[in-house]
Amino acid sequence: MAAQWSANGAALGSPDLTVVANQVFGQNVFSPAVQRQRLPHSVFKSLQEALARGGALDTSLADQIASAMKDWAMERGATHYTHWFQPLTGSTAEKHDSFYAPTGDGSAIADFSGKELIQGEPDASSFPTGGIRATFEARGYTAWDPTSPAFILENPNGAFLCIPTAFASWTGEALDNKIPLLRSMDALSGTAIRALRLFGHEQAQRVFTTVGPEQEYFLIDEQYYFERPDLVTTGRTLFGAKPPKGHELDDHYFGSIPERILACMLEVERELAKLGVPIKTRHNEVAPNQYEVAPVFENSNVGCDHQQLAMQQLQAVARRYGLVCLLHEKPFAGVNGSGKHNNWSMGTDTGMNLLDPGDTPADNIQFMFFCAAVIQAVNKHQALLRASVATAGQDHRLGANEAPPAIMSIFLGAELLRAFEAAESGEPVSDSEKGFLGLGTPVLPPLPMHGGDRNRTSPFAFTGNKFEFRAVGSSMSLSLPNTVLNTIVAEALDDLSSKLETATEAGTPLEEAVRAIVKESWTANKQIVFEGDNYAEEWHAEAQRRGLQNLRTTPEALPWLLEPQTLEAFGRYEVLSERELHARYDVLLEQYIIKVNIEAETAAAIARTMLLPASARHLAELRAADLPQLASVVASLIEDFSTAIGKLEQTNAAHAGEEGSLDHAAYMRDEVLAAMAEVRAIADKLEKIVADDLWPLPKYSEILFIK
Ligand code: ADP
Ligand code: MG
Repeated sequence: MAAQWSANGAALGSPDLTVVANQVFGQNVFSPAVQRQRLPHSVFKSLQEALARGGALDTSLADQIASAMKDWAMERGATHYTHWFQPLTGSTAEKHDSFYAPTGDGSAIADFSGKELIQGEPDASSFPTGGIRATFEARGYTAWDPTSPAFILENPNGAFLCIPTAFASWTGEALDNKIPLLRSMDALSGTAIRALRLFGHEQAQRVFTTVGPEQEYFLIDEQYYFERPDLVTTGRTLFGAKPPKGHELDDHYFGSIPERILACMLEVERELAKLGVPIKTRHNEVAPNQYEVAPVFENSNVGCDHQQLAMQQLQAVARRYGLVCLLHEKPFAGVNGSGKHNNWSMGTDTGMNLLDPGDTPADNIQFMFFCAAVIQAVNKHQALLRASVATAGQDHRLGANEAPPAIMSIFLGAELLRAFEAAESGEPVSDSEKGFLGLGTPVLPPLPMHGGDRNRTSPFAFTGNKFEFRAVGSSMSLSLPNTVLNTIVAEALDDLSSKLETATEAGTPLEEAVRAIVKESWTANKQIVFEGDNYAEEWHAEAQRRGLQNLRTTPEALPWLLEPQTLEAFGRYEVLSERELHARYDVLLEQYIIKVNIEAETAAAIARTMLLPASARHLAELRAADLPQLASVVASLIEDFSTAIGKLEQTNAAHAGEEGSLDHAAYMRDEVLAAMAEVRAIADKLEKIVADDLWPLPKYSEILFIK
C-alpha cells in the first residue's frame, strides 16, 4: 500500500502565491491585524497596550471583543467555541460549547458574551492535580490568555473557535502548564529590565523570552502502526530485532524527501500557516523515516502554544496520507530517538536580543553580563533543568550516545570561551580566527568564517545569539523547561544586578564593576562549561571529578523539583508555590509509574498471546519436518521465553513501595523495566529464527524503510 501511494485527489496544487487571496498565513487566527479591522479603535488600542505592557486588560472591553471574535469565527464556519488549555497531562484539552442558544420561540440565536470569553468553568475532576484538589472537588477555572491569539480549528464537517486559556483550581493554584510559564516570563522581564536600567537603557519596558523549537518525529506507514499493539498503546516498539541496516550509512540525514512524506509535510505546514505558526525549515533526520520541522522563534508563551498545535497537526494530517506520526522519544530501540531543540533567548520590546554578542563579545559588557547570568543559572540549577525534561520516554534517550547525556553542561564556542577566559585573566582577548574560508577553486565564493565551531553533542549550546537546550523530549510540552529556564535566569540576573548596584553606588565605574562581576561569576561557575564530546566516556569521568550531576533516570531527577534551592527560586518570583511544585512532582512521578506499568502489561500481552504462539507453531513445523536439532534450539528459547514472561507478569502484578512514591517509581525502573528487557531480549532472538510468515509483528526493516 505504501509503495503504491499516490495523492488521493485532495492535492493542494501550486497556486500563484503572489496573489494575496492565495496566501493562507494567519487565515484562521484572530490576530492583531484582524482585531484592528474588527474592533472599535479604542478597544483595539486598549487591548494592544495591555499586551505590550504585559498588564491587565480592562474587562469591560470583553463584551465587544467577544462579539467581534464570534462574528469573525462564524464567518469561517465555526459553530462552537472552546477554552483551549494545557493541563498537566502535557497535551491540550478542549470542551466545546455551541454559540447557539434556543430563544424559546422555536428558533435559536448565536451568542457569545465577554463573560464566556474571559472565564470558563469546566468540570475538571479528571485532570491530574497532584493532590491540589481531591477528586470530589471538581471545580476548576479556565481564564482567557489575551497574549496568545484565538484561532479556528477546521474539520471537513465544521469548525470551532479555540481560545487559549489558563487553567487553575478554585483556590487559584495553577493546574496547567501555561500559568507558571506566564509567571516566569513576568519574573524574567522584571529582573532583565532592572539589569538594563543599570546599563542605562531607559526605553525598554518589557523583556520577552523567546523560543524556537526544532521538532523531530517519525512518519511510518499506518498499516504497520495498527499491526503493532505496542505502538498503538505505548507509542514505542517494545519488541524488534536490530535490522540489517539502521542509520549507519548516514544516507537519510538531509536526504531528498520522499514524495508521500513531502506531500504530508506540505499539508501540515499549510494547516499550521493558517493557524499562524511560522514554520520555516523541514528536513530528513538521521534515523530512517525520521524528520524535523522548525518554526521561526516567537515569545515563549505563543511559541509553546504553537508547538502544541504543531504536534497535533503533524499527527492529524499524517493520517490523510496513510501515515502515522510518532512523537515518542524512543520509538525504536537501537535507532536514534527524537528530541526537541529548545532555542531560547531574551529580547526587549524595543527589538534588542540580549544574547546577541555583536562582533566583539569581549567588549560588549552588557552581553557578557547577561551571558554570565545564564551560565550561573544553569550551573546552579543543572539538576532542576535535567528534572524539567525527565519522563519515562526520555530515559531511553538521554545518555544513549545520540542525544545529550543526562549531565548538563554548556558549550560556548571558541570565541565566547576566549572572551570569558580573558575576563578572568584580565589579559586582552586573543585574536579570533575569523576571516575567510577559501574552498580551493576560484569559482566558489570565499566564505566568512564564524568565531567558533558548533558542538552537536552539547545539551546546552550557545548558537550565535541564543542558547539551544537540546535535552527536551519530542513529545513534551515546552512549558516546564522554559518555565525553569526563565525562573533560574531571573534569579541569576537579580543576583548579578544587586552586586552591580552595590558596586556602582560605592563609586566604581560601570564598566569596571561589570568586568569584576562577570569575572567572579565566571570563576565560580565555569565548571559547567564543556567544549568537548559529550558522548565520550572520558567526559562522564571528568564531569564526576567536577562534581556535576549525572541523573540518568526520571526517579533520580524528579526530586530536584523539591530541593530547597528550587523552592526558594520559584517561591521568590511566585512562579510556583511549594504546594504547586509538590503537585507537579507527584503528577510527573505518577505518570512515570503509570507509563511503565502500561508498557509492562502491553509487553506481557504481546509476548504471551502473539509471540509465544508464533514460536510454538514454528517449533511444531520444525518437528513435523523432522528437524530435531533446529527444534531443540527453538524449544529451549521458548522455555526461557515462557519463564521470562512469567517473571514479568509476576513483577508487574504487585509493585513494591507506597503507591505513587519515589520508591514505587524506583521499583518500576529497577524491577519492571528490567523484566521487560529480559523478555524482549529473547523475543528479539526468536524474531530472527521464527518463520517470517508466522511472526505476527511487522519488523524494523519494514516499518523503518517503507516510505
Ligand atoms: P539548527 O538546526 O542549525 O540549530 P534551525 O534553523 O533548524 O537551526 O533552528 C534554529 C531555531 O532557532 C529556529 O527555530 C529559530 O527560529 C530559532 N531562533 C533563532 N533566533 C532565536 C532567538 N533569538 N530566540 C529563540 N529562538 C531563536
Ligand atoms: Mg539545532
